[in-house]
Amino acid sequence: MSDPLAYLKEELAALEEQGLRQHPRVLEGEQRARTRFDGRDVVNLASNNYLGLAAHPRLKEAASRAASELGAGSGAVRTIAGTMSMHLELERRFAEFKGAERALMFQAGFTANAGTVAAILTNEDVIVSDELNHASIIDGARLSRAQIKVYPHKDVEAAAALLAESTDAKRKLLITDGVFSMDGDIAPLPGLVEAAENAGAIMMIDDAHASGVLGATGRGTVEHFGLHARPRGGVDIQVGTLSKAIGVLGGFIAGPDHLIEWLVNRGRPFLFSTSAPPAVVAACMAALDVLRDEPERLRRLWDRTRFFKSGLSDLGFDTGISETPITPVIAGDETKAVEFSRGLWDEGVFTPAVVFPTVKRGKARVRTIVTADHSEDDLRAALTAFERVGGKLGMI
Ligand code: PMP
Repeated sequence: MSDPLAYLKEELAALEEQGLRQHPRVLEGEQRARTRFDGRDVVNLASNNYLGLAAHPRLKEAASRAASELGAGSGAVRTIAGTMSMHLELERRFAEFKGAERALMFQAGFTANAGTVAAILTNEDVIVSDELNHASIIDGARLSRAQIKVYPHKDVEAAAALLAESTDAKRKLLITDGVFSMDGDIAPLPGLVEAAENAGAIMMIDDAHASGVLGATGRGTVEHFGLHARPRGGVDIQVGTLSKAIGVLGGFIAGPDHLIEWLVNRGRPFLFSTSAPPAVVAACMAALDVLRDEPERLRRLWDRTRFFKSGLSDLGFDTGISETPITPVIAGDETKAVEFSRGLWDEGVFTPAVVFPTVKRGKARVRTIVTADHSEDDLRAALTAFERVGGKLGMI
């Protein structure tokens, strides 16, 4: 019998030939600064485990206790039988963390973004979106059937102009990532907030890489820019993930009560997908405790970030426009980035190559993320490897 999916084999071969095919490495221990992937002990510059919480003893303990006391699964979607008091408690604490009236947990940051954008807009509306916004925003925008207008990266004037020209739109949404995941740069939030206010638009920010990372207490981009003095921090909808700095899994929307109540009624991932299991919720709660009790983690994250960034630029690498613990090292074409990543791997450093379509063609890179768990020795070892491999490839 012929295989109607056979065409995918050809597509995969084409990806392979262009160096675009994914071959995920396999983690064989805990997600740590030094750990084992594919049988090799490496300095791990690949995770989003910013504060080193993924394997923190208090999170592990909380997860185990919750699983043994409350079970492995929640057993239902939230609106049927899957709302546990611990979901509500975590939402209350996350709303407080974000300085919002209320918060709602989703199964992932991805579904929080996509489900929310799709739920609040219709085909009579317009979305003004940064060209480098995350895939989950793009998918949510498409699902909403609103008109999508894309502005050049971080160009506040262009965003304002697109809002101003959208006179026919019933409602307008201005949306941006807080920290851009591939370049590590920060959105010009104060300018965007002003543009949204002038246009009477909804302002939404995806703080997946900013929550737990930016601001004096890790509350995100609003805190970074000191906007929390304004009503709502100038932002109507804040998105957070529990999968990166918080170290576990899940997503959040923080905003006014009526937004959250609407999402309880119309947010499709909330309505049609099972809620987070007890271990996940308990570990997230423990993470918020650690954030409060161990503020030195955030300081260490930024100390190590500065150390590593200055090491890379002293060596002469092109690290783009990063302002955060995400530092890309730009290689140029796809094959060079893959070769660079492979060379670093051979030297005991794990930094994945990021290629088209995740980044533009010709901007292929390895992406590094420093965490609070990296010691200066780990980072020195990584820099030695970067020097050796970058030298061999003529990048420095
Ligand atoms: N937004 C951004 C900017 C992200 O980088 C990611 C994760 N890649 C997400 C949203 C999705 O978060 P999650 O992994 O929790 O689904």
